[in-house]
Amino acid sequence: MDQALAKAALEGGAGGVLRIDLGALKANYLKLRRLAAPTPVSAVVKADAYGLGVAAVSETLYAAGCRHFFVALTREAFELRPPLPADAALYVLNGLAPGSEARAAEAGLIPVLNSPEQLDAWAATAKARGTTLPALLQVDTGMSRLGFMPDDLKALALAPERLDGLRIDYLMSHLACADEPAHPANGEQLGAFELASRLFPDTPLCFANSGGLFLGAEYHADLCRPGIALYGAAPHVDRPNPMQPVIALELAVVQTRIVPAGTRIGYGGTVVTDAPKRLATLSAGYADGLPRRLGGQGAVYFNGVRLPFIGRVSMDSIIIDIDALPEGALKAGDFVELIGAHQSLDALAEAAGTIAYEILTQLGPRYHRHLIPAEA
Ligand SMILES: *Cc1c(COP(=O)(O)O)cnc(C)c1O
Repeated sequence: MDQALAKAALEGGAGGVLRIDLGALKANYLKLRRLAAPTPVSAVVKADAYGLGVAAVSETLYAAGCRHFFVALTREAFELRPPLPADAALYVLNGLAPGSEARAAEAGLIPVLNSPEQLDAWAATAKARGTTLPALLQVDTGMSRLGFMPDDLKALALAPERLDGLRIDYLMSHLACADEPAHPANGEQLGAFELASRLFPDTPLCFANSGGLFLGAEYHADLCRPGIALYGAAPHVDRPNPMQPVIALELAVVQTRIVPAGTRIGYGGTVVTDAPKRLATLSAGYADGLPRRLGGQGAVYFNGVRLPFIGRVSMDSIIIDIDALPEGALKAGDFVELIGAHQSLDALAEAAGTIAYEILTQLGPRYHRHLIPAEA
């Protein structure tokens, strides 16, 4: 790593350096836009932009031309709305928390209406204010998570007065299996969405997440809605990743040691050495979002050499086996790579038995965060 960056991180007392490449984020957004054209592409920035920092991420994407943003919770929208320029739309995927409608209308949020209850509350808010309020209407096409059941949507289409005071900007649905391109659910959901859309023939459609965007033009509808691909993870499992990596994570070495045969390593003494061994201790652990399951499975890299985790992952530290390095090659204050050129975010997630989404959103606040700005 860059000496100045390592020095700044250590002087600040951090145990790791999280580099966030906003240029790569921008390149990924532009790539998705080219792929979806002429359909516009929004950005899903829920959960603090998948852990990367919603302020910098949304600013970068706005500068790249993005004018539609999605968060999940009303709370996230209240925080993002003031800094977001007025010509950018901000949608709330989970719908508004009950009781937050008046404040949401005041703030200019656009809820996704997922249920008859959410619809009625938003329509009542419009009526009380004597205005028309915008909304997205979600239909559940096969995930059973959020959205009107198709029958409820039919009932709504037959009672359009329930939409009085509302302007439905998009009819929306969400794919459950888009990361598996061969999964039959994709085509089934597309068919169900087409059927549902006939109930609202003049309403634009919003459908594809990252995986859906790569399933082909028939999935693009009128607005794409990617999240994870923007942040550099693979949109489809078992396929080469077309996106640029956005994050790199390096962890600091606290100390090194040589232990004799018969030495217990880490909590629970789950490993006992059968020969003398060289070890290093890293300054990050499960409190920093590194899965405890990586104990005995994970590895870091130093000068291209793989150094396996040994014993359990602690809250604030991880022990690694450094026998593969020449003696003295690694010392306190050096940094080893956990996510980077030798180990992708997706590869780390797989080693931990999880997905890139979970790794990203768990990255804790203790890292030294280094933002690399996008070129204008
Ligand atoms: C999180 C989410 C997305 C983004 O999905 P990715 O797989 O990250 O592209 C899109 N739509 C909805 C409804 C979501 O919840």
